[in-house]
Amino acid sequence: MSNDFKSIHEFDFTLICNYFKALKRQGPGSPEVTQKAVSFINELSDKARIADIGCGTGGQTMALANYTKGQITGIDLFPDFIELFNKNAIEAHCEDRVKGIVGSMDALPFQEEELDLIWSEGAIYNIGFERGMNEWNKFLKKNGFIAVTEASWFTPERPSEIEDFWMANYPEIDTIPRKIMQMEKAGYIPTAHFILPENCWTEHFYAPQFPVQEAFLKEYAGNDAAADLITGQRYEESLYNKYKEYYGYVFYIGQKRD
Ligand code: SAM
Repeated sequence: MSNDFKSIHEFDFTLICNYFKALKRQGPGSPEVTQKAVSFINELSDKARIADIGCGTGGQTMALANYTKGQITGIDLFPDFIELFNKNAIEAHCEDRVKGIVGSMDALPFQEEELDLIWSEGAIYNIGFERGMNEWNKFLKKNGFIAVTEASWFTPERPSEIEDFWMANYPEIDTIPRKIMQMEKAGYIPTAHFILPENCWTEHFYAPQFPVQEAFLKEYAGNDAAADLITGQRYEESLYNKYKEYYGYVFYIGQKRD
């Protein structure tokens, strides 16, 4: 196989990365919500060790750096995101304590009981909430905190169109009480949870995509995979607008039990 050959999958990843790289954040959230979640954890010292798992280009990490002390390691699977992340840290003047590294959330490069805080916005779904809660626990110091956002149902039942969409894409989506029970089982005291307000989706996630989609379709004119990607993103947005009373992201904050 020659070096310049790219499999369909590699190409799709490049395409997806190029699309999301153009956005400040790769998932729903906002600086206000990051700050609110920080308010539920104990104050950290300058020596605190924090990991932001699935950090993307660091939209939420730079906000987190504003509201916490300590060293933050952002970790993401995609080198292009990490390159931008480290540029963003320099721009935010926090490169001395915020560093991005390439790595996978299922093989984290931390020691047992090394971390004071694990942060993860819109990313734990990549290995699943329950697995992430369980596997990441050992990296936290005793009484350390975890704060993640996770797609959750707001009602016990919902219309089949949205139920089917999530079952096909992330069947681990569940109700808030069940997510909290999973946290408890994984060894945390669930200290707080709250639903992300609608503007985390509309203003901070979907609206910035509009100009990026227009530019992307022009850049990749005639490319079916690019057109499919945009169609998919627009469909997701339409589903959110139609069914937002049934689901959304919830911030779950917990403290590691002794
Ligand atoms: N936290 C960012 C935010 O809220 O803007 C990014 C959220 S984005 C929806 C999910 C992120 O998880 C992407 O940056 C993706 O590259 C990353 N990701 C996917 N699988 C991963 C893995 N196995 N290990 C680390 N990061 C992963």
